Amino acid sequence: MEIWFQNTLSRQKERFEPLAPPRVTMYVCGVTAYDESHLGHARAAVVFDVLYRFLKHLGYEVHYVRNFTDIDDKIIRRAQEEGTNAKELAERYIRSYKEDMEALKVLPPTYEPRATEHIPQIIALIERLIEKGFAYVVEGDVYFAVEKFPEYGKLSGRNLEEMRAGARISVSEKKRHPLDFALWKAEKPGEPSWESPWGRGRPGWHIECSAMAMHYLGETIDIHGGGLDLIFPHHENEIAQSEAATGKPFVRYWLHNGMVTVEREKMSKSLGNFVTIKHMLASHHPEALRLFLLSMHYRSPLDYSEKVVSDHEKALEGFYETLYLLRKLKPVAEEPPKKHRKPLEEASQAIATFEERFLKALADDLNTARAIGEMFALERILNGLLKLCGRFPSAAHLEVARKGEETVRKLAGNILGILEEEPETFIEARREAALKERGLSREEIERLITEREEARKEKDFSRADAIRDDLAEKGIELRDTPWGTFWKVT
Ligand SMILES: [Zn+2]
Repeated sequence: MEIWFQNTLSRQKERFEPLAPPRVTMYVCGVTAYDESHLGHARAAVVFDVLYRFLKHLGYEVHYVRNFTDIDDKIIRRAQEEGTNAKELAERYIRSYKEDMEALKVLPPTYEPRATEHIPQIIALIERLIEKGFAYVVEGDVYFAVEKFPEYGKLSGRNLEEMRAGARISVSEKKRHPLDFALWKAEKPGEPSWESPWGRGRPGWHIECSAMAMHYLGETIDIHGGGLDLIFPHHENEIAQSEAATGKPFVRYWLHNGMVTVEREKMSKSLGNFVTIKHMLASHHPEALRLFLLSMHYRSPLDYSEKVVSDHEKALEGFYETLYLLRKLKPVAEEPPKKHRKPLEEASQAIATFEERFLKALADDLNTARAIGEMFALERILNGLLKLCGRFPSAAHLEVARKGEETVRKLAGNILGILEEEPETFIEARREAALKERGLSREEIERLITEREEARKEKDFSRADAIRDDLAEKGIELRDTPWGTFWKVT
């Protein structure tokens, strides 16, 4: 299958050709571990998780690295405020992030390296840059000289002269050019530091990603991902320092995900408009969050509101309800009625071609929005089947329904991490949680439902309606099907 990616570097959609198939190397910038992670972090993690799952599904051998920045100004500052040390603080938030990822069903990458565990690789890379004349030492600091790298700005489409003219770049007297960036920072009192050829100090932020990407994946990697906000300066700097050191292209395909916004403004710690992953998981099913996070193409902004997340949750619940009801079907005949043959044939055809449409959507620059559209189109087909067989499901109806369920759950489950649960487990867990929250008893509800069914059998419709109203008042919604009454807490 041909895969196409919008490459930030070329600004074009390009056919994906890994350097040494079936091996694919992929690096994604992880979090700086100084606070709880929010929905913006969740989006990047889930988007690249789907890319990782998709490539593996197609048979690629994916080597995926997502790092932890565990030494940085923010970590040091926060640790000082809390009266702890940087290492302890970073460990705490790394643990917390891993919990979030597990709950969100994000697969662990092949490697999750930390900057502080790769100081020798970082130092070796800086030494190479100094030797080649791309970096210089000033009083224990080491800077990358952007003017020595003529292609600086190629990823973000910026030009060095224009950037110099642009104000707001803090000018340090130590730097030769205002855009030169620190590869190594000399030790400051009270801060963590490591031995280096330039005296004790610590790495700057950008260098760790180049050092770790090359250490685990080689000097040229296939895919590098991250948020759009990292294009400049972080990824621009990664390219400069990597390519200056090796003389080889650093990354073949640059993929950037859009921001999560709140009322069109970027969700961020500094704006204070963020919701943490833990907060979201307290009130939403992880698959509902994944559905929301994947509902737009990854490069587009994704506007968050509680209403939109709830709508996705309802859609997910509806899907599980369909699967749950399909499972309740018991065949009462071998053959379908003659007039069902054509619709059954059509449903069967749509199911047979689902995989191709679903994978094609993802192969087109990871268009998860389209893949999800295909999923729900299949749900409509399954609902159509439920209606079609009515009171008299035949073995033929069931066979088509089972095939549909199996196909959609296999693909959506494996690649999107959605519909992975057993429908019964999903429905029962939600009922249980809602009953507990409302303080309702399951026995009482099931007794009333049975009573209502009996009243209906005896054609005592006013009694049946009264019971329905009574349940509705308690927040219980009933759905009558040919195979009994389905109920849920609304
Ligand atoms: Zn990075």
